[in-house]
Formats: sequence, structure tokens, C-alpha cells
Amino acid sequence: MFVTLKPHATEAEFAAVVEKIRSLGLTPHPITGTERRVVAVVGNTGSVEPEDFAAMPGVAEALRVSQPFKLVSREVREEDTVIDVGGVPIGGRAICVMAGPCSVESREQILEAAVAVKKAGATFLRGGAYKPRTSPYEFQGLREEGLKLLALAREQTGLKVVTEVMSTEAVPVVSEYADVLQVGARNMQNYALLERLGTCGKPVLLKRGLSATIKEWLMAAEYIVAKGNPRVALCERGIRTFETMTRNTLDINAVPVLKSLTHLPVIVDPSHGIGIRKHVPAIARAGIAAGADGIIVEVHPRPEKALSDGAQSLTPAEFEGLMRQVRVIAAAIERPIP
Ligand code: PEP
Ligand code: MN
Repeated sequence: MFVTLKPHATEAEFAAVVEKIRSLGLTPHPITGTERRVVAVVGNTGSVEPEDFAAMPGVAEALRVSQPFKLVSREVREEDTVIDVGGVPIGGRAICVMAGPCSVESREQILEAAVAVKKAGATFLRGGAYKPRTSPYEFQGLREEGLKLLALAREQTGLKVVTEVMSTEAVPVVSEYADVLQVGARNMQNYALLERLGTCGKPVLLKRGLSATIKEWLMAAEYIVAKGNPRVALCERGIRTFETMTRNTLDINAVPVLKSLTHLPVIVDPSHGIGIRKHVPAIARAGIAAGADGIIVEVHPRPEKALSDGAQSLTPAEFEGLMRQVRVIAAAIERPIP
């Protein structure tokens, strides 16, 4: 349920609403940044009637939220969430471009990749330091050393850093170095991790689980927001289907569906979405054309030598070509690329 206050409601009237929610054993979540003052009522609201709030002084209306996700729902907050990452926005009108290697491999590799993607127009550097590999015998990432290299690349280029956090224990160390914490597909329903990220103080990029429905994905986002962190962006990275010609099936449908169901920014990952280098640009273009707020693309200075996901990584030259195309599409739908 959510309670919308009248434009000129007083502080005392607002406080009375919050107090009433608490007295019913429920949790009030004021939704900030909206034109109207809205308080979401979270908890088991089954026995509470909207009329109980609607009759209170200063209240414009009280309505039940029809979806199981509440705080991330557009019903509760109409305006798009814009995540301000140290002056660089994720969400809103501008298209956000994140790029870099699948894994941080060495000082030279990450610096070379960072300089290249910055030159082509990316504003975020991606790169995994903790890698969730399908096989325990494959490269697992440089861990804290990788985080330090990402921070060095940020220092040298001004790019913001997005990198994966795989466990609750690693949240403090990853938060220390990264600007945005990525939750990988394999961890989308790791509820202990999601709850921990609710109090980490950093924006979160929540990737879609391999077989997660849109509803399950939004419920996962709700876990983070309900714990107090509203700075969550969603990343469509392809789902598992019967198709074997591609690594995954990028669910382009998810983009407009999410944009109508939630106010959170939506990012498309064409690299994991299709898994085939030569087709990555087509899917990146499709994502932007479908209304995504940005893309996250794997770029490696020498893809053939990559320790992970080389087959889907673009060369710097290919990424530059993609950026030229993305600018044309963004212009066609009247969205700027900073
Ligand atoms: C990645 O971004 O390199 C990654 C492991 O992605 P996903 O969790 O989507 O598989
Ligand atoms: Mn990867």
C-alpha cells in the first residue's frame, strides 16, 4: 500500500501517517525525489484498509499496490530513478555506457582497456576481480589485487568502476574500491547478499538470474531497496532457453516491460546476452532502441588472449565502431550520450 500526501500537507500530518503505519506493526518507507510526498507501507497489509489512511488529515489518497514488488514499482514512484554516481548518472534521459574486460587480468591489460573505452566514450569501466566461474579450475579473478588495479584505472582515466561482489563477506572490500557493486546472474537470488547490499551505501547493478522471471528479478531488487538502498539498476544479460546457437537469449521484451513496471534504470548486457563477438553490436543497438538506459559491454585489448569470455569481447576498434552506431540510435530516440 502507499499513501500519497496532499501538496501542502504539514510535517505534523506526515509524521502522523508514519506513526500510524508503525503502530500497525508495519514499516513506513518515505519515497524521496518525487513531486508528491509518498510513503510506502511495507509488511503484511492484509488487515489494513486504505480508508484507514485516506481519512487522515493531509492525505490525498491511499492505494494498494497491485504487484508483489512495492518500493521498486512504478505504481509507488512514477518518476524514473536516476542514480548519481559521483556526477555520472545511471537512468534518466542520458544513455550510460559501461565497458571493459570480463576479468581484470593485469595492470597493463586493465589500463589499456580503460584508456580505450574512455576514448570511445564510455563513462564506466567494468571488470571482474571476483569471478563466478562455472568451473572451479578456471581463472577466479585477482580479487583484492584486481580491485586495486580498477581503482588505479579510475585514477588515471576518471572512469567510474563497476565490479562484481560475490559474497556478503566481500561487500566491505569491494565497496572500498568500486563505485557500483554488481550482483552477478548466479547470485540474483542470494538473499543474504541482497540484504547486505541494502546497507552498503553504494549503488548496485543487479543482473538477471539465468532462469529468473521478471517478477522474481524485481522481487530481488525489492530486497535491496527494502533494506534501505534505493540506488539499484537492473541488467538484462540474457536468459537460458532451449536455443544452443547463442550463449544465452537476450530478452529484449524485458526492456519495455521493466520500464513500465519499475522506475529503476535498465541496462542491457549484449556480451553475455548473445555470447558471440560479431553479434554483440546488433544486440547492443537493439537494447538502446528498445528503451534501455544503457549498455555494459565486454571489451578486451586482445580478446584472443582473454582469461575469460574472450569469444564475446570486442576489440577496442570494434567498440569504437559500436559507439558510433549507438550515438546514431540514441540521437534517433532523442537521448543524449554524455
Ligand atoms: C560478468 O559480468 O562478467 C558476468 C559474470 O556476468 P553474469 O553474472 O551476467 O554471467
Ligand atoms: Mn564475462
